[in-house]
Amino acid sequence: MTVYLVGAGPGSADLLTLRAARLLGEADVVVIDRLVDESVRACINANAEVIEVGKQPGQSGTQALINDLLVTLGLSGGTIVRLKGGDPFVFGRGFEEVLALQGASIPVEVVPGVSSALAAPAAAGIPVTHRDLSRGVVIVTGTGSGGSAVDLTALAQSGLTIVLLMGVERRAELARQLLDGGLDEGTPVAAIEWAWTDRQRVVATTLAHLATAVISSPAVLVIGAVAGYSAAEISTFAHALR
Ligand code: SAH
Repeated sequence: MTVYLVGAGPGSADLLTLRAARLLGEADVVVIDRLVDESVRACINANAEVIEVGKQPGQSGTQALINDLLVTLGLSGGTIVRLKGGDPFVFGRGFEEVLALQGASIPVEVVPGVSSALAAPAAAGIPVTHRDLSRGVVIVTGTGSGGSAVDLTALAQSGLTIVLLMGVERRAELARQLLDGGLDEGTPVAAIEWAWTDRQRVVATTLAHLATAVISSPAVLVIGAVAGYSAAEISTFAHALR
């Protein structure tokens, strides 16, 4: 009666792990997130019951209901897959689900996935680290308000590539913090919308223009010198999806 907490990867089913694909083929029930791509859904065994728990942004109140649902399913037996976009432990509230299941003595297994935090830059041909340009990368959520929001001012001087998830809505404020922290107005920014899906779109801009750039969710924002690399120079199979 194990519940499998499975990462669906960023989009195309080609980026599922072999273990994730096998579990989708064997599942009796799949509890699925909003951002999971059609090609991944197609890997789910045709006899499985699919339960959509797609949260719209900001609807975090439904998390308790999802936890309860997983516990009920876990207690009823069978192969239960909780499928989450990207990696289940990167801003996916996966650990809350693990705790809820463990609290009910239901065994949980985590299957990591390819996170959009790294895969979206790759789809645009952007190396998140580079020996001469960036010796590391930080992955930060752009959500939050007041004390719960990350203050990017301190990160501005780190010299690291900044990868922002869920940062589209508050991009004006986030850009201002980075400029206040001392980053140059011309610092390259790349926004990758719908990475590894047939809707993928890359917007190249700078920190000075991030607030007014036309970008829509879901997108990963990459900020730093590496974002200046031209997407066109690298070929990934994301091009073939379009
Ligand atoms: N666990 C997920 C992240 C969940 S938070 C992961 O590891 O990828 C949701 C955010 O992830 C979105 O707001 C967006 O910033 C990013 N995201 C997820 N999939 C994406 C995709 N295919 N293209 C661009 N951004 C994506």
